[in-house]
Amino acid sequence: MTNFPNLIDGEWTMGTQSVPNVNPSDTNDVIGQAASATTEEVEQAIDAAAAAQVGWSKSTPQQRFDILDAIGTEILARKEELGDLLAREEGKTLPEGIGEVARAGQIFKFFAGEALRIPGERLESVRPGVEVDIRREALGVIGIITPWNFPIAIPAWKSAPALCYGNAVVMKAAEAVPGSAWALADIIHRSGLPKGVFNLVNGKGSKIGPVMIDHPKVAGISFTGSVQTGQQVAQGCAKNLKKVQLEMGGKNPMVVLDDADLDIAVGACVNGAFFSTGQRCTASSRLIVTEGIYDAFVAAMSKTVSALTVGDARKAGTQIGPVIDQRQLEKDLEYVQIAQQEGATLVCGGEKIEGSGHFMSPALFVDTANHMRINQEEVFGPVATIIKAKDYEEALKLANDTEFGLSAGICTTSLKYATDFKANAKAGMVMVNLPTAGVDYHVPFGGTKGSSYGSREQGRYAAEFYSTVKTSYMQA
Ligand code: NAD
Repeated sequence: MTNFPNLIDGEWTMGTQSVPNVNPSDTNDVIGQAASATTEEVEQAIDAAAAAQVGWSKSTPQQRFDILDAIGTEILARKEELGDLLAREEGKTLPEGIGEVARAGQIFKFFAGEALRIPGERLESVRPGVEVDIRREALGVIGIITPWNFPIAIPAWKSAPALCYGNAVVMKAAEAVPGSAWALADIIHRSGLPKGVFNLVNGKGSKIGPVMIDHPKVAGISFTGSVQTGQQVAQGCAKNLKKVQLEMGGKNPMVVLDDADLDIAVGACVNGAFFSTGQRCTASSRLIVTEGIYDAFVAAMSKTVSALTVGDARKAGTQIGPVIDQRQLEKDLEYVQIAQQEGATLVCGGEKIEGSGHFMSPALFVDTANHMRINQEEVFGPVATIIKAKDYEEALKLANDTEFGLSAGICTTSLKYATDFKANAKAGMVMVNLPTAGVDYHVPFGGTKGSSYGSREQGRYAAEFYSTVKTSYMQA
């Protein structure tokens, strides 16, 4: 068994409290013991970060490049090993786990390059003899709060830009996945980054989160998680006049039009709805299908979804791993019941699979209407519905009829409808003939409406959150 300590001011500490880290594929497999930070430890980490940030903000672009690049190189070199740890503690399949680790490595490489390209501007003043320049500076200490479903990619896509723009970090990963956060912290710790610039304080969110949010030395909070927690984080940050960025849930639509290539549509929908056990904020949980292709689509989907292999995340051949924990499994099964009570018809799956892990068969519903709870509330599990639409116009209306706006997809061979959908889908990300989930690491990520709040993450747009602008005037 391994210990997953916290990292405070360059020192590893198990502190006085710890919790077991359990494999969702086999709950008899206790992976390790994870430190659970106290309020005092979180405060120590923030003090250390504030002290170290002063020096780090003065580091050269070359120093930042070298450190971020070294972190990316080690992550990429160890992607199989780290992907195995990720699959073991989070439950996504081994290929998905390895893919996520590789993405984390690429993100660090990307921000290594961005450190060499921190932009600024010089303008002529409206007053004679005066020069104006505009530069980007670090915010200070950034509090990073992450969910369990991308246990290395999300910590990477927040901490890499934070460090790139000269900030210090105090990070709290989700309780269910301390191993991946510890592995990332270990790589960052050995990269040559000055002590105290990156700190890890895992533990209970409702305890640690408010300490970070209320602490005067924390300049901003970058949060990814549920809408409910996100609202609490935003309220706390508003009270403290603190910069905040939230990425939250989704109820992402995938529209399938009569003219779609059926194989492409079924492939995109199965991937988008069920891969990673449906536990992606960008999962396609609502499949909106027009009348002409409806019967063929339902038949093909039902055949493919029923044949998916559910099992141990690390076993070769597994396509769908376990649900993260017992509580989430109960929530998924409850939504299967809710959908049936609302009048939806279960085509396949939706059953608990007995065994030593948290398994359920992927559930697919037909006869659903968009106003039903199953089509309005985020389940965050392997549960998808099919909604019938008369034509493209109705499908677009249904796609946008949600309080969320993260990702939206369409399968069509029509240039006209693809172009219209890209313009009129109310979402931060739009996919044409591609799954709603699965994005590039060098472009912005985020949503509209209830899915996101604040500026975008990733790509060069990350600079908006992780830096602040200073305007200087000088009389020559
Ligand atoms: P969650 O909201 O329960 O927890 C997220 C994080 O917040 C965890 O680290 C948790 O410990 C912490 N937390 C809990 N209470 C807190 C509080 N009072 N103050 C501060 N922090 C607190 O979410 P989860 O179950 O870990 O993740 C699933 C959710 O994340 C889903 O809704 C999913 O859609 C969303 N998600 C969104 C994106 C995105 O980029 N939009 C990506 C992945 C996941």
